[in-house]
Amino acid sequence: MVARPARVAGLSETPRRTLLLVAFLVDWPEHVSLTMSLIPSHVTVDADQAALVQAAREFAEAELLELDRRCDHEGTTVIQMLPKLGEMGLLNLLLPEDVGGLGVPYTTYASILHDIAVFSPSTCVTISVHTMVGQVLNKYLPEPCRTEWLSEWASTDSFAAFCLSEAGSGSDAASVTTTAVKVDGGYRVTGEKMWITNGMSARWFLVLVRLEGASTGEHLCALLVDGNDSGIERAEIHGKMGIRGSETAVINLTNVLVPDDHLVGRQGAGLEVFLSCLDGGRVGIASQATGMAEACLSEMVSYARQREQFGRPIGSFQGVAGAVADSAMELEAAKLLVWRAAQAIDQGKVDRTASSMAKLYASEAVNRIAYRAVQIHGGAGYVHECRVEQLYRDARVTTIYEGTSEIQRIVIARGLAQA
Ligand SMILES: Cc1cc2nc3c(=O)[nH]c(=O)nc-3n(C[C@H](O)[C@H](O)[C@H](O)COP(=O)(O)OP(=O)(O)OC[C@H]3O[C@@H](n4cnc5c(N)ncnc54)[C@H](O)[C@@H]3O)c2cc1C
Repeated sequence: MVARPARVAGLSETPRRTLLLVAFLVDWPEHVSLTMSLIPSHVTVDADQAALVQAAREFAEAELLELDRRCDHEGTTVIQMLPKLGEMGLLNLLLPEDVGGLGVPYTTYASILHDIAVFSPSTCVTISVHTMVGQVLNKYLPEPCRTEWLSEWASTDSFAAFCLSEAGSGSDAASVTTTAVKVDGGYRVTGEKMWITNGMSARWFLVLVRLEGASTGEHLCALLVDGNDSGIERAEIHGKMGIRGSETAVINLTNVLVPDDHLVGRQGAGLEVFLSCLDGGRVGIASQATGMAEACLSEMVSYARQREQFGRPIGSFQGVAGAVADSAMELEAAKLLVWRAAQAIDQGKVDRTASSMAKLYASEAVNRIAYRAVQIHGGAGYVHECRVEQLYRDARVTTIYEGTSEIQRIVIARGLAQA
């Protein structure tokens, strides 16, 4: 027998809420969709921005979901979609209009990443990494390089990767050993970068290097390396747990000549350039996490409504309904943190603590939510055919890349200490 709101009117507030949720899960009509945007319900966005987000979502549902599933099964990547992503404007969403970008606010961009991640977490991170490199070039490059390079940013020939990590240098970013030697007209770069998203197909590599002979504090530089130059070898990393549709590579650089005007920011400001990339990048990964969490929630609600045990839908059991309620609440909290961090960027008040809070909370929440989604599916959630099995694996990386959870906690604590 299903509990109805009318029959629980006399109960205290807490059990009443639980029973209302139970009734909701069981009675929810099929045609009602659980899709929820990143945009908070109390916020009214401009109609053009809302239309853009909606268009991205429809595209992702129609063209990316099946591709993402296929990539996960077959070990291929979503890179084949790049020309279409470029045509749709999804590769230069944030860039200003003077270089052909769409110039959307960061809140719109985060909403689009969220909606893309609902259907394809791999496409989401592909776009996010390319975009964060574009943003930092827009901020630091002098003219005419800025206009010349960024005008082509939506083209597959301008696809970009962010090269910070090395085999021996992860969380401790300043310990990179990739070396640049100053020569007449530029730098000679030698070293190896590891775990590079977009690494197999990228034209541009933003690379953190150690400048030989420079004093401490002046030795880290950000260089834009042209992937077409000689001395570069790429090797794909296979066997990832999740986001298998995104490219991950090792990039080996041997004596690569990088011209002087490819220095991004001043000499010695390399770490600052990379950390400023991550201020926005972490909000991108947080949006990827909320998108995946939304997909998990949608799958768990639909299964809880349809699967019957003991003669009734499992969503009518309080244990299951409670897991759904916790997931919905955590997703909502994560989305609000992401929105707040994105809004700070729009207001020109980049808030490193807010970005880290959004990334930390959203990435840990999606892992809890994906765990519950598998649990609610029981054995059915443990096989490839079930989407939550993939989402559970895809979610795992969000607490690792662009700064682990432990590093986000350090950034947040440091921000509080400085406040
Ligand atoms: C699929 C994938 C894609 C990636 N894409 C990119 C990319 O495009 N570009 C790029 O540059 N990198 C990329 N990375 C690398 C990623 O950013 C690093 O893996 C991450 O920063 C952690 O570095 P690490 O793996 O060397 O771990 P380590 O730094 O060795 O850390 C190992 C463990 O020690 C903990 N730890 C380390 N220092 C501390 C501390 N001070 N306090 C507490 N705990 C600590 C960490 O939190 C972690 O749990 C990618 C990684 C993956 C898996």
